[in-house]
Amino acid sequence: PYQFRSVIYSSHSLEDATSVLSVHRYTPKVDPENSVVARTLAFPINPSDINQLQGVYPSKPEKTLNYGTKDPAAIAGNEGVFEVLSVPPNEKSLKVGDWVIPLYANQGTWSDHRIFHNASDLIKVNGLDLHTAGTVGVNGVTAYQLVHDYINWSTGGNEWLVQNAGTSGVSKIVTQVAKIADIKTLSVIRDRENFDQVAKTLEDKFGATKVISESQNNDKVFGKQVLPTILGDNARVRLALNSVGGRSSSAIARKLENDALLLTYGGMSKQPVTLPTSLHIFKGLTSKGFWVTESCRREPQKKVDAVNALVELYKGGKLTSPKDETITNYVDPSASDQELLEVIKNGINSPGKQVVVF
Ligand code: NDP
Repeated sequence: PYQFRSVIYSSHSLEDATSVLSVHRYTPKVDPENSVVARTLAFPINPSDINQLQGVYPSKPEKTLNYGTKDPAAIAGNEGVFEVLSVPPNEKSLKVGDWVIPLYANQGTWSDHRIFHNASDLIKVNGLDLHTAGTVGVNGVTAYQLVHDYINWSTGGNEWLVQNAGTSGVSKIVTQVAKIADIKTLSVIRDRENFDQVAKTLEDKFGATKVISESQNNDKVFGKQVLPTILGDNARVRLALNSVGGRSSSAIARKLENDALLLTYGGMSKQPVTLPTSLHIFKGLTSKGFWVTESCRREPQKKVDAVNALVELYKGGKLTSPKDETITNYVDPSASDQELLEVIKNGINSPGKQVVVF
């Protein structure tokens, strides 16, 4: 029989998300006729995972007694990559050794093994590196859908999208996915001492067409005089991607043409999305939100398609692995429960995108 070890929670804490976590060992009920058993290879610690532990995320797993805990519990984590250990005898779509990611959120991924009851709830990601496979399902899919699902881009036109938080993991994938589709990117980043160096990396390594600072973003003279020379003749700016809010979101919205879309997917500044009234009345601006969890619940095939497209792009060397942008936390199989918990807690409390590798 299998022995599983999972990071679980039964309650929530807004003050200290790590305080609700514990490591639980159990012998799962496996029905080999109907379930896929998989070994965890890696999982990221995403902001949404922490928000779930805090009890402030609108989507959450059901807590159950299925793991043999005293109180109903859920396994933490929503994303991760697994290696298939066994498949039901009649299952044709998967084989032992395949790398897979869960299609839906709330499956519980912070665990050394998992059982999946439907092979169709898994997406194959063979051929990717661990860090890419472990993070493609949220940041990769988000970036892909933001670029491809809202605008009917013309080919051969001078098409631009503008985005803030240009240094984020999602934005770096947006930049690359857009470039492949012949869409130029104007990426806004916060002012910093090494602005030129960061901008150069975003342009050279990730293919951002032009990087500007938040002070340039907010400067009306820059918008009127310099921006047109950056965009060039007959530029179309139909999409602004906002993950910051506040003044940054109004400033990127001002760069849009008439009847364009401001698409909000994050709120890093914790400020509301404020938009000039005139943009709505005189420029026909539409403001919408994107949430990968809800998008997948409504149209799971779009996520499958996005992952499949991304896998091909990564395998073809067209996208850069997020490995260099992430901090790897290794868990030795012989690590004690306490050591495993410490790795997770440190990950939650540390800056940067943390990936836990088994
Ligand atoms: P990263 O940790 O890679 O990047 C965070 C970004 O936010 C950096 O660019 C950072 O810029 C910027 N930032 C941090 N604090 C502030 C602040 N106070 N004001 C302005 N900018 C700030 O994040 P991810 O790429 O993983 O995620 C980016 C955003 O997208 C998050 O808000 C996340 O919740 C959201 N997201 C939403 C999804 C959805 O479905 N809606 C799915 C996936 C992610 P700097 O370099 O200046 O520090």
